[in-house]
Amino acid sequence: EKPAARRSIAELPDQLISQIAAGEVVERPASVVKELVENALDAGATRIEVRIEGGGLRRISVTDNGCGIPKEELPLALKRHATSKIRNLIELESVRSLGFRGEALASIASVAGLTLISRTADEDHAWSISEDGVMPAAGSQGTQIEVVDLFFKTPARRKFLKSEATETAHCLRQFEHAALSHPDVDMRFMANGRVIHALPAQAPRERANMILPKEFADASREVYASAPGLTVTGWVGTPTAARQKSDAQFFFVNGRCVKDKTLLHAVKQGYSDVLYNGAQPSFCLFLDVDPMQVDVNVHPTKSEVRFREGQRVHQFVFHAVEAALAPAISSGSAPSGL
Ligand code: ADP
Ligand code: MG
Repeated sequence: EKPAARRSIAELPDQLISQIAAGEVVERPASVVKELVENALDAGATRIEVRIEGGGLRRISVTDNGCGIPKEELPLALKRHATSKIRNLIELESVRSLGFRGEALASIASVAGLTLISRTADEDHAWSISEDGVMPAAGSQGTQIEVVDLFFKTPARRKFLKSEATETAHCLRQFEHAALSHPDVDMRFMANGRVIHALPAQAPRERANMILPKEFADASREVYASAPGLTVTGWVGTPTAARQKSDAQFFFVNGRCVKDKTLLHAVKQGYSDVLYNGAQPSFCLFLDVDPMQVDVNVHPTKSEVRFREGQRVHQFVFHAVEAALAPAISSGSAPSGL
């Protein structure tokens, strides 16, 4: 066999670079919901509305009343590796905002139609930016981003998506993560014009009750523990609230919903051996860690973190869960007859 003829090295065009990068950040419509809601939260919004149509493929819009983006900076907002959130390595290592990579909007714009309308407190009207450039627009303070026809530029990606119902469920789940970790924000989610969630600013527990399964609201224990540079709050379901599916397990690290084996293991160990037949614990826990002690720049979607002192965090969470459950376990509220 003859080897294929060698082609010369060429730099990729910007648009293609963005589309390649978008593959990591924008896996499906829910990724867009996640990134846009995180931007709204980073902008200090106290009200956020998410609307999706056609599972998010036809349209996703997120409207917030946050700080807005000044007209001069609109083109930068859509540029790759441009961010207002960090300036240098030191700021990266102590980052508190949800975003910092400066690539979400650029990635989304490379695989969908994107229009951004924004107005800061100093401007007397809004401005919009889209493929057609920057133009005056109507709108109150804050930002509205509309994403249409996701993946129409990259049809291969579209083929991997599931049904509209499944994509809607994933979008909803991302919204719920943000809602659980930001109960003080008025948040609304609509799908195909129907209101799915209308959540006023409320106490953390009230918010959790509106989102988590009913048996969790009925049977859970408050968790609270604090150590230097570490705080954990939230709730763990009593063994009676355990489920067959692991669909009510939420871990937030500094306001970010993460998947983490160490944390999951610590929680399960906290239940010791009171869960039977593969029953899954329900929990919603918020871990606050000194940002210097956790690396959030592990994965483009930031759904994984790395702890500097993983073993210490594990012990801390394990003891907090165990202590919270102690009354439930000793008072015999574990399912009888098992
Ligand atoms: P990142 O969030 O990592 O900085 P993005 O691509 O998501 O990157 O956003 C780029 C920039 O656009 C942000 O740094 C921020 O300054 C601005 N921005 C995006 N969305 C909003 C919003 N809803 N309100 C205010 N500013 C925003
Ligand atoms: Mg962002």
